[in-house]
Amino acid sequence: MSSSDRKLRFDNRVAVVTGAGAGLGREYALLLAERGAKVVVNDLGGSHSGEGASQRAADIVVEEIRRAGGEAVADYNSVIDGAMVIETALKAFGRVDILINNAGILRDRSLAKTSEQDWNLVNDVHLKGSFKCTQAAFPHMKAQRYGRIIMTSSNSGIYGNFGQANYSAAKMGLVGLANTVAIEGARNNVLCNVIIPTAASRMTEGILPDILFNELKPKLIAPVVAYLCHESCQDNGSYIESAAGWATKVHTVRGKGAVLRPSLIDTVTPEYVKNVWSNVTDMSKAKHLNAIGEASGYLLEVLEKMKEGD
Ligand code: NAD
Repeated sequence: MSSSDRKLRFDNRVAVVTGAGAGLGREYALLLAERGAKVVVNDLGGSHSGEGASQRAADIVVEEIRRAGGEAVADYNSVIDGAMVIETALKAFGRVDILINNAGILRDRSLAKTSEQDWNLVNDVHLKGSFKCTQAAFPHMKAQRYGRIIMTSSNSGIYGNFGQANYSAAKMGLVGLANTVAIEGARNNVLCNVIIPTAASRMTEGILPDILFNELKPKLIAPVVAYLCHESCQDNGSYIESAAGWATKVHTVRGKGAVLRPSLIDTVTPEYVKNVWSNVTDMSKAKHLNAIGEASGYLLEVLEKMKEGD
């Protein structure tokens, strides 16, 4: 067996998987436990729209893991109480190495019909919940100079989707959160990446066409997330889309842009903007920037060129 074929193991690692009582989270928890991780199976056990609560969802997955010879404990807190979720890991296993922010609900309505309550609840569970769990785990990961954090985004956030204003906003918010967590954790080997899954679950039942639904097994995404959580994976701040046994990296890109005034002493007018708009929106020379410093560095270059009347 070559070193590249060696099984990726998670022995002595403690993983917290939120929303692990069903769907994708359950598959993440089962796979990490099978590979030696001690797992906190967090799940509030409510409905897909966030109503009610039950310990059953988490208990069943913990049972499954234990029956297969793995180690797991249940945690029934809402992710909004992130400190309590992480406390469960510390109490049961004494540390936390991996955090998969996965818990989620849907309250789909068109923008016009979205109530403030639907907006708040969806944003609270996805965005605030991920913030709270991450903030609670972060100092422990930094102190031990090891951590792997996953945020769960969605194509609904990246591209928008009719009827999902609240969900799209939360899911794109998670990309922003991951960008900064990746920067703040890097020095201490605490890495943060984003998964953009498409999978058959109660969340997508009746939404995805049957032919697609049957091929989109959550189990096929779990190995991608497991690899992102492994010590051998050095990605940080990556967005990885995965479904149906396929995965790709997703990037933001920025066009070359256009100068909006003839020279530094001129002001910008709407007419000038209109005249050069096709250059402003031309993406033929678009590039990915790796850091905010590259964006401001490029602005300095533009100013220099304008000074030279280039
Ligand atoms: P799912 O409904 O099967 O699982 C979500 C789990 O989260 C449930 O078990 C639920 O009880 C739990 N949960 C909900 N609110 C909670 C809270 N406040 N605290 C703790 N647990 C809570 O859904 P899924 O499809 O497996 O989705 C998992 C994640 O992937 C979600 O964040 C979802 O938005 C995201 N996602 C899924 C898809 C997809 O195609 N299924 C696409 C894009 C993103």
